Amino acid sequence: MPTVSLLRCDKYENRVLKDVIRQSLANIGFDLKSLKKARVVVKPNLLMPAKDEKAIITHSEFFRAVVQIVKQSGGIPVLLESPAIHSLERTIKKTSYAQVVESEGIEVGNPTKTRTLHYESAKKFKHLDISGEYFGADLILNLPKFKTHGITYITGAVKLLFGAIPGVEKSKMHLRAPTPEEFSEFILDLYGAMTYGFSPPKPIIHIMDAILAQEGEGPGPAGKPKRLNAVLAGDNGIAVDYVASRVAGVDIKKALTVVNGFKRNYGVSSADEISVVGETIETLRPSHFEPATGGSIFSNMFRWPFTTPTFKNLFLDRPAPREEKCTLCYQCKKICASGAISESDGRKKVPSYDYNTCIRCYCCMEICPEAAIRKERGWLQWALGS
Ligand code: SF4
Ligand code: SF4
Repeated sequence: MPTVSLLRCDKYENRVLKDVIRQSLANIGFDLKSLKKARVVVKPNLLMPAKDEKAIITHSEFFRAVVQIVKQSGGIPVLLESPAIHSLERTIKKTSYAQVVESEGIEVGNPTKTRTLHYESAKKFKHLDISGEYFGADLILNLPKFKTHGITYITGAVKLLFGAIPGVEKSKMHLRAPTPEEFSEFILDLYGAMTYGFSPPKPIIHIMDAILAQEGEGPGPAGKPKRLNAVLAGDNGIAVDYVASRVAGVDIKKALTVVNGFKRNYGVSSADEISVVGETIETLRPSHFEPATGGSIFSNMFRWPFTTPTFKNLFLDRPAPREEKCTLCYQCKKICASGAISESDGRKKVPSYDYNTCIRCYCCMEICPEAAIRKERGWLQWALGS
C-alpha cells in the first residue's frame, strides 16, 4: 500500500523546509542513512528561466533544503534537469538556482548526453533516450512543483520525469503522441521505465513543492501562482499526484496520468490503496482552485476523424498570440515540433500560425515568456457545450 506524506508548510524558510522535508521522508519510511556515499540525482522542475514567485519552477530554497539534507546525510547531490528550450546552464544562470548551486557547491549533470532506457513492459514506448546521468545515480530525488497543465490537466511527480528527455526532443514526442490520451500514456510509459526499467531498479523518491502551486493556464508564465501550503512525499508518483490533485480539489477524472496510471497498476491501482500520513486532504484544500481549461469534450476520444484539420478548427481550443503582449522573440516557433509557427506575415506583430498543421500540444503557450498566447475556442465548440 503506497504511503503519501502530506504536511503543511507555508514558507520557503530554510530551517522550516528542512524540518518539513525530513519529517516527510520519515513519514514514508525513508531512512536518511541510505544516502551515505550515494550519488543522488536531484531533479527539480526547471522548465524555463523564471522567478521563484511565479511558481513555474520548483522553488530554489526548496531545492537547497533537499540538497543540504543529502549533503548532511553523507550523499553527493547532482542537479539534473532538461529545460524546454534553453540549456540547463543558461536556465540556472537566469534563476535563483545560480546562487544555490554556487553556495552549496553542487555538481551539475549534463542532461544532453543520452543513453537508451529499455522497458519491455511499456505499452508503446519501450526504448527511450534519456539523460545518461540517471544511469550513474544510486537514487533519484524528484522534486515536482504542483501545477495545472494544458494537456495532462495537472503536472506533478509523474509528468516531471518528462525532463529526463533532453531539450527540444521533448516537444518532438508530442508528434509521436499527439492527443492528450496518447501523450499521457507516453508519460506513463516513461514513468514505468524510470521506476522499473533500470537494472537493478533505482529508488525514486518524489518530494513535491506544493507550497506555492500554480493554477489556471499552467504550467508556464500564463499560469497563476496559488498557495496550497503543502509538501508531499512518497515513493509512488501516481499516488503523490493523486493526493496533490485532491488537495487542490480538481476533477480527478481529467488527470489522465493519475486515472490511467491506476489502470496500469504501477504499485497502486486505486485511491483506496493510498494511505495519507500527516494532514488530512480536506484540511489543506483551498476554498477555490482554478483548473486548467480542457481542449474539448473530445479530448479523450481524439482519434481520426477527430484529428482532421476541420475537426480541430471547429471543436478544439487553438493557441492564439496577442499583439499587445508579443515581443516577437519566436521561442514559440523554436519549440513547435509540427512546424505550425512561422514569422509574422507583417499584417500583425505576432508569429503566423497554421492551425491545420497545429496538433494542439500547447507547448508554445507553455513556453511563451510574455504569457502572450491564450486559448481561443474552436469555431463550433459552443455548439457542443464543450
Ligand atoms: S507569442 Fe510569445 S513566444 Fe511567440 S514570439 Fe510572441 S512573445 Fe515570443
Ligand atoms: S502551434 Fe503551438 S500548440 Fe500548435 S503544434 Fe505548435 S507548439 Fe503545439
